[in-house]
Amino acid sequence: MSADFLKLAVPGVQQLAPYVPGKPIAELERELGIREAIKLASNENPLGPSERVLAAVADAQSELTRYPDGNGFSLKRALATQHNVDPAQITLGNGSNDVLEMIARAYLRPGTSAVFSQYAFAVYPLATQAVGADAVVVPARQWGHDLEAMLAAIRSDTRVVFIANPNNPTGTSFGKAEWEAFITQVPADVLVVLDEAYIEYNEQAEALDGSAYLGRYPNLVLTRTFSKAYGLAALRVGYSLSQPVIADVLNRVRQPFNVNSLALVAAEAALADQAYLERSRALNAEGMQQLQQGCQTLGVNWIPSAGNFLTLLFDTATHPDAAMINAALLQRGVIVRPLAGYGMSQALRVSIGLPAENARFLEALAAVLA
Ligand SMILES: *Cc1c(COP(=O)(O)O)cnc(C)c1O
Repeated sequence: MSADFLKLAVPGVQQLAPYVPGKPIAELERELGIREAIKLASNENPLGPSERVLAAVADAQSELTRYPDGNGFSLKRALATQHNVDPAQITLGNGSNDVLEMIARAYLRPGTSAVFSQYAFAVYPLATQAVGADAVVVPARQWGHDLEAMLAAIRSDTRVVFIANPNNPTGTSFGKAEWEAFITQVPADVLVVLDEAYIEYNEQAEALDGSAYLGRYPNLVLTRTFSKAYGLAALRVGYSLSQPVIADVLNRVRQPFNVNSLALVAAEAALADQAYLERSRALNAEGMQQLQQGCQTLGVNWIPSAGNFLTLLFDTATHPDAAMINAALLQRGVIVRPLAGYGMSQALRVSIGLPAENARFLEALAAVLA
């Protein structure tokens, strides 16, 4: 008889429920025997990769037999220039998800805790639990992070606070005043991880850029990604900015070649392609309007969003429940993101797509609600 290899896993891992990603297009098409499904479920850039990225990746193919540059010298140099930091402050990750895991591995263990908000990005509870640390989940305020309450929730065993601004899956964001009231009060030995995966889309007047605070707060770690506005979700590349000693610690738990060669050259090309970034932002702003107008017409409410997605709130008194709406959208070849796993069973998150994709989503939603 086989031993019970679930019971033999470390306690944190036994309790984990795996991350549930957006459904892949090919999978839905296979299941339903349909074609031309659209996916507005994972906050990907609907523009497709930039021409400059495609050219850089094509050029790098001849190097596929070589290991990548494990230190990512060239990409780090470009990022250092962009952010006006020293390359020693940068940690590259196989997606920023990888960096979040490195932080958990390096700074959390049983007997310590991480603080994060209700409805915060799902990777924070996963990374915290996997290493056996306690999760201190702070109730959200109007779907967003309540920084004052998060500050008050910091315990003597707290080593890390995870914050996403803008947050996924709610799209909520906070500005400089709230942030400063928070960061100035956090104990100096607690790491503040500010996840800025959607910062390129944030057009709020008082939009916060955490990089302005790196010099003043040695406990601050920013994470950024190439998966969203830079359009490179498939390649998996992200990074953190911190003071050098934190980057040095993360480097000790980092896999030696965690970012592959194609990702390294693609990220560097993407960083240089500001025109692509501008097009992405403009398309997003336009699509956000289109979705909001459409939802208003349909009498569907949403959470105001600073990201590249919109979280719709269905009123249980007048609408079918969100799981049923989601199933009916799938039948029509439209993939969005159900949020029951976040405790938001009345909500669906829709990524902003191309105008025709947004229109198709709205048509499908209208048909489902009729
Ligand atoms: C998408 C996302 C990430 C990053 O994902 P990677 O693809 O691993 O870089 C990080 N944080 C939040 C809040 C996200 O939504």
